[in-house]
Amino acid sequence: MSTIADNILDVSSRIHAATLAANRAENSVQLLAVSKTKPAQALRDAYAAGLRDFGENYLQEALGKQLELADLPLIWHFIGPIQSNKTRAIAEHFDWVHSVDRLKIAQRLSEQRPADLPPLNICIQVNVSGEASKSGCTPADLPALANAISALPRLTLRGLMAIPEPTEDRAAQDAAFAAVQRLQASLNLPLDTLSMGMSHDLESAIAQGATWVRIGTALFGARDYDRP
Ligand SMILES: *Cc1c(COP(=O)(O)O)cnc(C)c1O
Repeated sequence: MSTIADNILDVSSRIHAATLAANRAENSVQLLAVSKTKPAQALRDAYAAGLRDFGENYLQEALGKQLELADLPLIWHFIGPIQSNKTRAIAEHFDWVHSVDRLKIAQRLSEQRPADLPPLNICIQVNVSGEASKSGCTPADLPALANAISALPRLTLRGLMAIPEPTEDRAAQDAAFAAVQRLQASLNLPLDTLSMGMSHDLESAIAQGATWVRIGTALFGARDYDRP
């Protein structure tokens, strides 16, 4: 068995245990494999071991892997910071975008989503760690942004994404993820997705309602370079 297959079993059992501990339905938490910096073969191995959803942060790197893996029915999630000049390629080549934090980007994605593809699934990235993180809209700006995005024709607003300040303190993890869940609940919109939790804090995220956990290191090992 390959290392990646072993790691998938480990991560899946962590997800399963956390889901049970939170009294949540089995299969209510999905695993997004974060494959940034990893070669196409690593994704191929993860696919062979059962994974379908892959998250990438850097557009050019992702497009290269998509070409190499065009024979596989993978579901692609864009999870990195988005510049305006990248929206067309993202709208054309991804199924989900987790990292929308301003209306201009959402409008461009909606306008540029090809007519023959289903609406693009969107999460709004929200910053619940204040100045510690620069990406993400503020909680104060979230309601207006969510309402505006939910009206865009070629997008489906699914929920929120967050990357709280990293900490090993479980109480601090819980507080940050609970804040995201409360923000989601405070929006009067039909949302079904909370994208939160990474390798070191997935248990806390699942306890606070995560529906996607985005896992890189625990599946593929440490990255050689690690941009945000
Ligand atoms: C890199 C990254 C992850 C994965 O982080 P790990 O700690 O390696 O599991 C998750 N989400 C985002 C947005 C990332 O950039």
